[in-house]
Amino acid sequence: MVIVIEEPGLSPAVEDYLKAIYHLSSHGEHSGQAIAERLGVAQASVTAMCRRLQEQGLVDWAPYRPISLTPRGQQSALAVIRRHRILETFLHEVLDMPWDEVHEEAEVLEHHISPRLLERMADRLGDPHFDPHGDPIPAADGTLPESDTHPLAGAAPNATLTVHRVRVSRPEVLRYLDGIGIRPGARIAIIERAPFAGPVTVGIEGGARHALDQSLAQQIEVSQEPGRALGPRHGTPPAPDPART
Ligand SMILES: [Zn+2]
Repeated sequence: MVIVIEEPGLSPAVEDYLKAIYHLSSHGEHSGQAIAERLGVAQASVTAMCRRLQEQGLVDWAPYRPISLTPRGQQSALAVIRRHRILETFLHEVLDMPWDEVHEEAEVLEHHISPRLLERMADRLGDPHFDPHGDPIPAADGTLPESDTHPLAGAAPNATLTVHRVRVSRPEVLRYLDGIGIRPGARIAIIERAPFAGPVTVGIEGGARHALDQSLAQQIEVSQEPGRALGPRHGTPPAPDPART
């Protein structure tokens, strides 16, 4: 029996705010303006909503002060993120929906799915720790799985790297990456790094070489397999992700 940290009765708008504040805070961003930009709303609406969320004990807020979630607000945000990422995983793995289409569906469904249905989906998926993009799925108790990864842009050349997470949201870029074989679990290596922050050329196991620009290489998170060169496709199978077992 798991305890699900769910706050019943929060509206979709409130849940979107909590999620936005959570994501922005994790990047050290606490301004009302950033929330307004992320949600595409006016700053006055952010102020009004934050006042409301503060009254409900979900947000720490005062005029002209940084905005952050209270522990309760944080748990509620994690509950929404859990629903979102379980839904994405279910749509991708059970319904074969491509990884560039699942986000849009999950954005809608995350506000309406019952805890009972969600936990059935999680059960069916074997309680996954990562979604199709490699984003960590908060556990039912609100804890996040750990993973030791770093951006591809800074990885050592010629080492075998395993892709863990693709922090790209534009569907066309996700389709491109999938088309060239860059997705969580793929093994790649940096063949060449152009000087002056130029493109990074990667070799993809069982595939071709591709040049990725710096900003894209920054959004792909990898881990390094110690002491192994990138072998042919029929070589050793990829090592299991320790965080997933
Ligand atoms: Zn998503």
